[in-house]
Amino acid sequence: NRRIRVGIAGYGNLGKGVQQAINQNPDMELVAIFTRRDPEELAKETGTTVERLDNAGQYINRIDVMILCGGSATDLPDQTPQLVKLFNTVDSFDTHAKIPEFYEKVNAAAVEGGKVGIISTGWDPGLFSMNRLLMQAVLPQGKEYTFWGTGVSQGHSDAIRRVTGVKAGVQYTVPVQEVIERIRSGETPELPTREKHRRNCFVVAEEGADQEAIRSTITRMPDYFADYDTTVTFITEEELAREHSGMPHGGFVIRSGVTGNGSKQIAEFGLKLDSNPEFTASVLIAYARAASRLSVEGVAGAKTVFDIPLGYLSPKSPEELRRELL
Ligand code: NAP
Repeated sequence: NRRIRVGIAGYGNLGKGVQQAINQNPDMELVAIFTRRDPEELAKETGTTVERLDNAGQYINRIDVMILCGGSATDLPDQTPQLVKLFNTVDSFDTHAKIPEFYEKVNAAAVEGGKVGIISTGWDPGLFSMNRLLMQAVLPQGKEYTFWGTGVSQGHSDAIRRVTGVKAGVQYTVPVQEVIERIRSGETPELPTREKHRRNCFVVAEEGADQEAIRSTITRMPDYFADYDTTVTFITEEELAREHSGMPHGGFVIRSGVTGNGSKQIAEFGLKLDSNPEFTASVLIAYARAASRLSVEGVAGAKTVFDIPLGYLSPKSPEELRRELL
């Protein structure tokens, strides 16, 4: 059995995570990283072959699956449809509202190229989506909750850094623990999004900046903070570097259902991640394995986590899976 030959398109946090995760999966090998930046610079940093993304076409017969690690906002909407004409792809497109439109574009391109494009893997969308579907199917009568955090939100951190007088900052989304406990104990409250999470900001102010003005600008910022219980804590640059440079994340999907004559059935799936990109990269790798298998079977088109048999994610054979995990 030869190894699955993988390419990485885009080398940010996720791209680095994929490079590391390949080393934990002996059935995979990294062929090259593709970037829009100077390949020579990145080759020194990564210690591996780096090519211009524009030259990816030269690798058509040397790569089984291209793992796309660009950003969801502006990279993937163009990169996935372009690359899936040439390669089987896996991505973690996470703009939930735009997934249906993205799916249509990727599907058309994938069918044209005769390739498989698995979109929106990762954990949300991804593993959380699978759990929402699974428990909805099993418990049709019930209510479902998704909580995120504690974790860094890139969008909210960027919003803080744009406030006048702010030198640097980071924002954590924190699930409201009391609400989670109520749900775990069987209550099914109606919860608007804002009652489910708090927002904690850690800010480094410019020398001489008015901290009260910064605090009130942040806590009153519409869309981002005004509707939430938001705290602002001022810290030093050293503290920010020491305590807040990681990328933790996680969360829970909980379904609280009822069967029979009112039997309560509560299902919960949770993640607590030290590194969001390293974990997401590990999910991408498992789906790269599935993409390679589907392609060998002659499948083409866009797929989501809902379309992939679970066994295709594992390096083990169906016989091994039945014996060891069933
Ligand atoms: P990122 O670090 O900002 O990287 C995105 C792209 O920016 C890279 O592919 C890279 O492309 C370019 N880039 C990275 N570092 C750069 C630098 N120093 N200078 C210039 N360009 C640079 O983003 P990320 O953290 O890897 O996340 C990528 C996406 O993953 C996110 O947008 C998010 O949507 C998605 N995600 C999904 C899930 C999920 O559960 N579904 C979870 C986490 C993340 P080039 O190499 O071509 O320059």
